[in-house]
Amino acid sequence: MSERTYPKIELHVHLEGAVRPATLFELAHRNGAALPVDTLHELERFYDFRDFDHFIDVWTLTTNVITTADDFRQVVVDYAREGAGFGVVYLEGIFSPGQYYARGIESRALFEGYTDGIQDAYEQTGVIVRLTPDIDRESEPELSRPIVEDSIRFRDRGIVGVGLGGRERAAPTSDFAELFARARDGGLASVPHAGEDVGAPSVREAVDLLGADRIRHGFRAIEDLDLIAELRDRSIVLDVCPTSNLRTRVVPRLDAHPLPTLLAQGLQVTINTDDPAMFGTDLGTEHAFARSVGADPRRLFDAGVAGQVAGPEMSAHLRAVGVSHWGEPGGALS
Ligand SMILES: [Zn+2]
Repeated sequence: MSERTYPKIELHVHLEGAVRPATLFELAHRNGAALPVDTLHELERFYDFRDFDHFIDVWTLTTNVITTADDFRQVVVDYAREGAGFGVVYLEGIFSPGQYYARGIESRALFEGYTDGIQDAYEQTGVIVRLTPDIDRESEPELSRPIVEDSIRFRDRGIVGVGLGGRERAAPTSDFAELFARARDGGLASVPHAGEDVGAPSVREAVDLLGADRIRHGFRAIEDLDLIAELRDRSIVLDVCPTSNLRTRVVPRLDAHPLPTLLAQGLQVTINTDDPAMFGTDLGTEHAFARSVGADPRRLFDAGVAGQVAGPEMSAHLRAVGVSHWGEPGGALS
């Protein structure tokens, strides 16, 4: 079975981290933005992953180039097109509004551009995109309040949740509880990062203090058997990103990745790229790894159906996609 032949759902991808060098090169020229290199070939080499500090340099370069509503729209469409090539039928993309607000970019251009991208992506690629902006754990929580309010305002345009990103040690999860309560009151899901570079207690806090509907990463829940049971019982899905975990050195080697343990514990797990352009990966590569350790493509897809936060209609639609490809659950494989 080729990695391209079965339908996939991706729920953990940062759209800024998915901008390929060719796109960044094009956007920089369009916007008159400076790049540290002169040619596309040099930019491709600049993207090569070296270490986490360099990753931050590439990330900062990218977010400083993306500027206009049309850029935001293009970033969504480009990644949807890439996903379509790997069989993606639905994706929830992340963007980080705080960085753009800090540069004085108006939230209207930001949210209109990104959500226009949802529409264009569907028309041009057939991939359904929904968006979940990230709050930065490294900023004062109050500075992120506009992210929550803008996200609520754009709910009917395809913003379906808010996340929490940045280094987990930067600030206690409790600092963000009130913002997430507001987001949930406004009809948005809670999809924070947790349990990546901090252990199981951070997953526990994401569930208890932020009302997490799904956890980005979260694999360090395996350190706590009671927590595993709770995640399983409450159908809280973990969005696992194997190559990202290797790049950020939270796992020493891919063959030491806890994915097989998570699956053996009966947890619902999706497979994702996180920042594919910057971590030197793509969704086909991540699925090839997952299958090499015994993950079943249909089970990954069903975890995506369970984990998506766009609502029951999306769930029904995606379930039907799964049935048309694999047949009824428990039935003969098609
Ligand atoms: Zn992430």
